[in-house]
Amino acid sequence: MTDLPTHLAKLDAHLARFRDHGILNLINGQDIGGATFETRSPVDDSLICTVARGTVADIDAAARAAKAAFPGWARTAPVERKRILHRIADLIEQRAEEIALLECWDTGQAWRFMSKAALRGAENFRYFADLAPGAKDGLALPTPDHLNVTSRHPIGPVGVITPWNTPFMLATWKIAPALAAGCTVVHKPAELSPLTARVLAEIAHEAGLPPGVWNLVNGFGEEAGRALTEHTDIKAIAFVGETRTGAMIQKQGADTLKRCHFELGGKNPVIVFDDADLDRALDAAIFMIYSLNGERCTSSSRLLIQDTIADDFEARLAERVGRIKVGHPLDPATEIGPLIDGGHFAKVTSYFDIARTDGATIAAGGTVPGGPGHYVNPTFFTQAQPDMRIAQEEIFGPVLTAIRFRDEAQALQIANGVAYGLTGYVWTNDLTRALRVSDRLESGMIWVNSDNVRHLPTPFGGVKNSGIGRDGGQWSFDFYMEQKNVAFALGAHKIQRLGV
Ligand code: NAD
Repeated sequence: MTDLPTHLAKLDAHLARFRDHGILNLINGQDIGGATFETRSPVDDSLICTVARGTVADIDAAARAAKAAFPGWARTAPVERKRILHRIADLIEQRAEEIALLECWDTGQAWRFMSKAALRGAENFRYFADLAPGAKDGLALPTPDHLNVTSRHPIGPVGVITPWNTPFMLATWKIAPALAAGCTVVHKPAELSPLTARVLAEIAHEAGLPPGVWNLVNGFGEEAGRALTEHTDIKAIAFVGETRTGAMIQKQGADTLKRCHFELGGKNPVIVFDDADLDRALDAAIFMIYSLNGERCTSSSRLLIQDTIADDFEARLAERVGRIKVGHPLDPATEIGPLIDGGHFAKVTSYFDIARTDGATIAAGGTVPGGPGHYVNPTFFTQAQPDMRIAQEEIFGPVLTAIRFRDEAQALQIANGVAYGLTGYVWTNDLTRALRVSDRLESGMIWVNSDNVRHLPTPFGGVKNSGIGRDGGQWSFDFYMEQKNVAFALGAHKIQRLGV
């Protein structure tokens, strides 16, 4: 296993180019500079590099480039698109270690999780590469008079706006299907974690993607992001981020009738019934909130625990949480790294007082290790009531809130009693209960006796304030493509004759 000093030495070599040149935008295949902002590492707040601060003019140039490149890319033979996307996956795999090191340093996510992130990103490209040749396929819907034939066509240049929590994986998840469908892209990554988006865009060009097909514009949400959502030439916005940002984007895109796809926040329940395999439920509940620093939209941030087993389960959980290793993200032993920045650190830690004031118990954590960097000790609240803020609001950190329930009906009432509905996790060995509960849970994605194991052809997305639309398999193409129906008359059916 590689150790921390080795990782730091390798990271330093990869960072040199960013220190020297900063992160530039990539528009129509050209590096574009201009005004800049600084990006800092959550590990020690040190300066990583400067980043191009994309302006309205930069977005306009990128959108025009994407528009100009669109007819050529949309007409490119799908097998050729497939070949290029596989080549992108090859190059991601070749640079997987570099991408993982940069991602840890830029986001504070631990190596043990990020070491696989690039490979997951490559898998996204391979999966959608293989679907590209069939993306246009439709249906034949005959009537006695007509043969209706449907087909799908890329919608045009699209904007992709991504958050800071797992930026590389999320960018690949949104951009790969857009390119496979034949769309061209303007990507606006999160201002807090811009490193790997630049590497990804470079890889795409090296793989042979024509200029203008993939444009990268860095910058702030209210400036570059807003301009992208308002641009006339951009036909759709694929957005991953906070619920309130999604609402803003919907307003910003209204004048240009933007098609929007939103993957937003969550306050996801893990419901543990007393007949469950409690050892596995414990492992999964801990993993699904304390991995990825809890900065994970699908995290199980509410533990709904049946009162008959609550004392024991909570005690075991608190004991395990107390032993989770907080440390440098590039130390392979680390389980939790620093939070993304000071603002997010302040938000997450503010819930320690909110929990106390509202009358919950802090069974583990509720403290910070101190020193440089935005480190927070993993925290576990117990004795919470469903209406408390810690039980309602997305904290987006390594913070779990336990709420007790009596029976199935109350479990469902609590689980569904929040504004969000992204994922749900159900632990029970009663088959009919599993079927009932999963049917009634208001969530887009539910795992029964499992943690979050993704299968790329399945629909990914949330209900209520957690999102609009689905990704994955054909659902991604439904968003990035327009349906067309052509009706062919099969003979001389009756046509009404007016003015005869
Ligand atoms: P955010 O909404 O603050 O920012 C996301 C992106 O939107 C950034 O690139 C930002 O610059 C941009 N942005 C901000 N304001 C904008 C505006 N007015 N117009 C256009 N773009 C704008 O989110 P974040 O803090 O970066 O990410 C954390 C959030 O993302 C959490 O709520 C989390 O649950 C959510 N998330 C959801 C999923 C999912 O699949 N459902 C996945 C990951 C993260």
